Amino acid sequence: MSLKSPRLDAIVIGAGLSGLQAAHDVQKAGLSCVVLEARDRVGGKTWSLPCANGKGVVDVGAAWINDTNQSKMFALTKRFGLETITQRTEGNCLAHDVGAFPYGGIPPFLGDDGENMRQVRDKIEELCQKIDLRKPALENYDTMNFEELVRHLGGKEVAFQTARVWTKAMLGCEPSETSALWFLDYCKSGGGLMQTRSDMKHGGQYLRIKKGTQSFSKGLAAALHPGSVLLNTPVTNIQQTPGDCTVITKSGTVFYSKKVILSIPTPLYKDITFTPPLSGAKLALTNSTKLGCTSKMILCYEKPWWRSQDLSGMTQSFRGPYTITRDTSNDSAGHYSLTSMPGADAARAWGTLPAHERRAQILAQVAEIFGNAEEAYRPIEIFEMEWSKEEFSKGCPCPVMPPNALSNWGFALREPFGGVHFVGTETAYEWKGYMEGAVRSGERGAEEVVLALGKLADSGISAKL
Ligand SMILES: Cc1cc2nc3c(=O)[nH]c(=O)nc-3n(C[C@H](O)[C@H](O)[C@H](O)COP(=O)(O)OP(=O)(O)OC[C@H]3O[C@@H](n4cnc5c(N)ncnc54)[C@H](O)[C@@H]3O)c2cc1C
Repeated sequence: MSLKSPRLDAIVIGAGLSGLQAAHDVQKAGLSCVVLEARDRVGGKTWSLPCANGKGVVDVGAAWINDTNQSKMFALTKRFGLETITQRTEGNCLAHDVGAFPYGGIPPFLGDDGENMRQVRDKIEELCQKIDLRKPALENYDTMNFEELVRHLGGKEVAFQTARVWTKAMLGCEPSETSALWFLDYCKSGGGLMQTRSDMKHGGQYLRIKKGTQSFSKGLAAALHPGSVLLNTPVTNIQQTPGDCTVITKSGTVFYSKKVILSIPTPLYKDITFTPPLSGAKLALTNSTKLGCTSKMILCYEKPWWRSQDLSGMTQSFRGPYTITRDTSNDSAGHYSLTSMPGADAARAWGTLPAHERRAQILAQVAEIFGNAEEAYRPIEIFEMEWSKEEFSKGCPCPVMPPNALSNWGFALREPFGGVHFVGTETAYEWKGYMEGAVRSGERGAEEVVLALGKLADSGISAKL
């Protein structure tokens, strides 16, 4: 005789930051809840791996936070007693084929290319600041892609290539793959283009976590009731009747609940069979949003050799395969590394190469840009992560909307579908695409569920699909 599992208040699908935060808040409200996670670990796109020499960890997924406008992440940093590393910004940056420039400055492009790029950048910042995050709309910018906007603003080739660095580094997509409006909204959600791109105080890349960002996910998971997170449990079906949800896993295990909180990236909803099926705007969203292709290759060295060349470790390349590098060392642990990030088309092409060729290309690019083959070719360890090849991510860091999707279906991003509530970083109003957005969305989803169940308990009325 098989025993039917008890009916829970909520089932959270996905143990990334958004799902874990949602589960945490649901349990805190005194409701019963489990988290079903497909992978054999918690954290989703936070994943921290130890270095072989025991000196520190590397983040192959999310790495940076800040301590001002990312208040949720900083609160978690304090709560879990995590030590931070301030992003090193001393020394010059390098632009491939162009030359050195100070941190936060503009590369020494020829002629008026630098000035043209600055003007376009400033106009984009101005447009960002006009966006109302609760109701994103601006002229006809959702009908054009970001490349068209840059050209429309008078951007010449260098300005366009710089814009390409932004979309590749921030989203793993080409400027032509994102709606101009959606990109402006994305930047505004992090305070604007300049703040989002900044490695300084208040910027998107200001602090790292000594023990790695997966510590946030592990901390949240540990704060749940013991046994709440079930790993290796991919969900394949969500069935609903009024007031009841049935969640079925790949192995055929069946869970029952009043509510479901789905925290997987929007394009992955397609991997789950919904009964009744997703329809209308929700279906259009899962079909139209696309995950970018951002990979990481982290080169660990015995010493931070680039610093003796008065270099910060920050480089950018229009050519690829990587778009940018940053110094991701943890000096106090004796860990020194450069993190390179291939993105978009270059990353897709690079990803088709055999492993030894991928490494050879990145090492050659580092050697060329830094002008120091002797040191560049002597890493003591290399970490590589291609998120687009991960079954339960299929890309990163955030689902991207093409033209017209935000205007037509954006309203449905956070809308519940019967008893299913949707969280995930892309559903956040602030810092969407970032860990901060993931945590904020988890809080919002939990609040929806707690409120709905509270109301239901009060009124005795059952939920309607
Ligand atoms: C290379 C890279 C660099 C980044 N850099 C930064 C950074 O510096 N700063 C920053 O703030 N953010 C950064 N991000 C983004 C950040 O990692 C994400 O915004 C955040 O972690 C997303 O959390 P989430 O909960 O929304 O989604 P996810 O982390 O994707 O969580 C979803 C979870 O659902 C699980 N899942 C999927 N399908 C199923 C299924 N069918 N059944 C059960 N479980 C399922 C997944 O395994 C995963 O654990 C980066 C991301 C990457 C990959």
